[in-house]
Amino acid sequence: MTNKNIDNKYADYAVKLKIDCKNCSGLCCVSLYCTKTDGFPSNKEAGTPCVYLDSDYGCNIHAKLSEKNYKGCLAYDCFGAGQRTTQLCLSKGSWKTNPKQADMIFQTFMTVFQMHQMLWYLVEAYYLTADKRLKSTIDELIIENNQIIEKLPDHGSKIDLSEYRLKVNTVLKQICNTISQNTSSNNHSGMTYLGKNFKKANLDGKDFSMSLMIAANFTGCSLKKTNFLGADIRDANLKDTDLSESIFLTQMQINSANGNNNTKLPGSLCHPASWI
Ligand code: SF4
Ligand code: SF4
Repeated sequence: MTNKNIDNKYADYAVKLKIDCKNCSGLCCVSLYCTKTDGFPSNKEAGTPCVYLDSDYGCNIHAKLSEKNYKGCLAYDCFGAGQRTTQLCLSKGSWKTNPKQADMIFQTFMTVFQMHQMLWYLVEAYYLTADKRLKSTIDELIIENNQIIEKLPDHGSKIDLSEYRLKVNTVLKQICNTISQNTSSNNHSGMTYLGKNFKKANLDGKDFSMSLMIAANFTGCSLKKTNFLGADIRDANLKDTDLSESIFLTQMQINSANGNNNTKLPGSLCHPASWI
């Protein structure tokens, strides 16, 4: 998502889609299924609080996550779904104060997560296209997204996201194709580049959406309009690399990769504490 455009219509989404753990009831630390192999402190069933979750919904070992190498906790980002769900369900209490509603709250959180993830991409897509018809379709999808979210606490079990998801994917596909200019040399979507050393290559305009790029080395590459939508870049080397004009990156992808103070990021993303 970029804030550089004159059209600031969706500028507030940079905040809405950022995690705000102080205003959340620790939803990720309770509702998610976690495994040691994914970098969490221990195997944990969905719906069971992590042993390190404190009584104020904070993490007892937050300052030590990096030192203890809890990669799963360090990388996780809910796109602001945690605080949104906590607020949405406020009248029903929290999973702790009203255990009868816990399953509904957890299910709402999972769905808000998916909706906020789509919102994230839609807002970036809005700024990436100059096509007025596409912009207007994105406007409608963003309105619909918020309408669906508002209904979730009371009607979540009856809401089917598949039709909405299809409409979002269609718009994103159009935008990705326009950026990669539909050329086969730019299309690397869904490919596997495990540990690949890109050797300072010019990767401008390449489409790596949904690609497996674990531990790939991007140091010194040119990455203007390089599309990372849904790419798995865990442990990728982003040190001394300029990603400021790369597209469809998320905070969770950045948190899971290795960078440093010299890594340049798009304006809506932050340097993870573990890089510093
Ligand atoms: S769900 Fe999101 S806001 Fe809540 S504690 Fe987890 S990361 Fe923070
Ligand atoms: S260690 Fe902390 S951040 Fe990780 S799941 Fe437990 S409470 Fe949450």
